[in-house]
Amino acid sequence: MNKDGKRFPLSLSSVVDAPGKATSRPVHSPKTATQQTAMQNAMTHGPVKKQFATGQPMSDGNISQNKITLESSRGSPLVSDAVRRAMVARVAQQGVKDQLVLSALDAIPRHLFVQSGLASQAYIDASLPIGHHQTISQPYIVARMTEIMRDGGTLHRVLEIGTGCGYQAAVLSLVAKEVFSIERIKALHELAKNNLRPMRIANIRLHYGDGMLGLPQVAPFDGIIMAAAGMEVPKALLEQLTIGGRLIAPVGGAKQVLQLIQRTAKNEWKSSVLEHCHFVPLHQGVI
Ligand code: SAH
Repeated sequence: MNKDGKRFPLSLSSVVDAPGKATSRPVHSPKTATQQTAMQNAMTHGPVKKQFATGQPMSDGNISQNKITLESSRGSPLVSDAVRRAMVARVAQQGVKDQLVLSALDAIPRHLFVQSGLASQAYIDASLPIGHHQTISQPYIVARMTEIMRDGGTLHRVLEIGTGCGYQAAVLSLVAKEVFSIERIKALHELAKNNLRPMRIANIRLHYGDGMLGLPQVAPFDGIIMAAAGMEVPKALLEQLTIGGRLIAPVGGAKQVLQLIQRTAKNEWKSSVLEHCHFVPLHQGVI
């Protein structure tokens, strides 16, 4: 899809699944950050005007063609490239080692994915509210999950469950050849489209639907990342992994852990539990 030179919004598509039961409940945010900290962060910092920052695509073999087009950053020091670099340095200090992932975090202007009034907080390592009782994930957990899913290999086709504002999808677009992302809340699906459009990322496809069903029409995926926590990983998603593929997901209710599932054979999956985390809940159906 990069070869034909098509750009956003041409590459966006929508899939609408039949509405199911849906109960949206606030919670979320990985590791130490919580919905409460997100709200506090929102209240303790003043508004900063949205600005474009430089997004440097990284090069790593075949994915170097994934380009992000942005105007250069000027003005507020709170959304500058230096502030973003400092965020990346903190994420690296917390143990993320994958240089490709760190470069992706450095390239994506996170302040363009939060409400303009919260732009000044975009580079602190916390989740922030994005409306509809959902949050943009904490940079550390975005990086950590991406690193675990990639495991130093080449990702061809990845699937994200829970697009939210589109930030993680943008990060993924720089580490994978093709990114598919599903969101069940129509308004957030639209928000992500609007956030991503100016970046002209050619290798992201956004879908409106229930991510618990996956995307059988484009499966299999060699990586699947879930941005919302269920009590278990939906079976449909396990079936949509390639053999050798890796799925990373928060699992649990009040107490959650990151679970890594690797498909080792047609009918065989290996699961391991990693660190604690805290995400918004996974819900069935669309709203
Ligand atoms: N990936 C986002 C995080 C969004 S928060 C980021 O980059 O910051 C998690 C998102 O998962 C919410 O927007 C929520 O609506 C969505 N979600 C929850 N259950 C879902 C489901 N079954 N299918 C698709 N999206 C779902």
